[in-house]
Amino acid sequence: MAVFACAGCGAGLSVPVARVALPAHAFRSGGERYLPPVLPPGAYAVDPEPHGPPFRRWAEVGAGEAAAHGVYAPVPHVSFGAPGRILLAPGDTCGTVLIPERCDGCCGSDGGVGPNLACARCGREVGTRIDDCYRWQAVWLEPGAVRELPVEGPGRPPGDGWTVTGLPPVEPLGWWSDQWSAAVGTALAHLLAASAGGPLVLPDGLVTAVFGRVPASVLPSPLAAGASARTVALVGPGLDPRPGPGPGTGPGRAPDIALVPRHPWTGETWQPSGGAVPVPLDAEVWTYLAAPETASTTRLPEGVERDDPLPLRPNWLFQPDRWLLLDRLARLPAVREPWLRAVYDRLAADVPGFHL
Ligand SMILES: [Zn+2]
Ligand SMILES: [Zn+2]
Repeated sequence: MAVFACAGCGAGLSVPVARVALPAHAFRSGGERYLPPVLPPGAYAVDPEPHGPPFRRWAEVGAGEAAAHGVYAPVPHVSFGAPGRILLAPGDTCGTVLIPERCDGCCGSDGGVGPNLACARCGREVGTRIDDCYRWQAVWLEPGAVRELPVEGPGRPPGDGWTVTGLPPVEPLGWWSDQWSAAVGTALAHLLAASAGGPLVLPDGLVTAVFGRVPASVLPSPLAAGASARTVALVGPGLDPRPGPGPGTGPGRAPDIALVPRHPWTGETWQPSGGAVPVPLDAEVWTYLAAPETASTTRLPEGVERDDPLPLRPNWLFQPDRWLLLDRLARLPAVREPWLRAVYDRLAADVPGFHL
């Protein structure tokens, strides 16, 4: 556990919080009009990359300077913000005041013009609150303006942390989950890079429904003559085919590419056995894909469910977040390879607003 304090005067700026993996939807914009906080109470996450303001246009920056900021393909704006920003739920912060002239949204703050939170005691600019429409609510503390102080607190729940409850892909009101859109969009960047430009064979069912259409639009078909397709499978806790006999082994051949979970606390990628290339995916989304029956549900208990209407089905196809897909792809050094850059350019051409 840790608390965050002002680096200038030492005033406390948060309640005790425990570190978790940075969720993909921390950077999603869109979905429902009014969204909840990105993180649950009592949690914080750290973004190792620059994502915040100030931003500079690609045309002013150039490929060399952009690469120094971790961006390897043209994007509309390159972040020159500090890496290491700290994400919290707004309700877990304290001791700050808004800087009104930096609150730039239409019904809240969009966080696009620099820090809009100051330390209430000394006035130092310490972070940015985001709570505008179509944005997941967040406070981002600036790494240079705050100090992290370890504190005693309740320990982690039992277990190694890999076991989580699956997140259903469809909201109770019948639309696709925003978190799924963000998580799958981000994972798709790694999946395309792992394809090496060749065809992919995905498992049937929900994996193909949510992951399948983007690779099908930019990679060769597995049915193409002479194509050597790479196989993709879910691999992770309780689901790791290991070659050879002995305890803990399972049947089946290891896939070429493994869709694996990210550790919910550390963000570490599950390492598959058998040489498969890992493609990291949000652990709650991975768990639902691997074991949908473990998901939390709003259904009535068995026996009284006859009065519960059937869950709605979305009336549109699943849409991975294309902005997050492009943002992640632009940050993979592999995008400098000509074949992947061509894939990137084709995807970017189809995204409205992705102008340079
Ligand atoms: Zn202060
Ligand atoms: Zn608004």
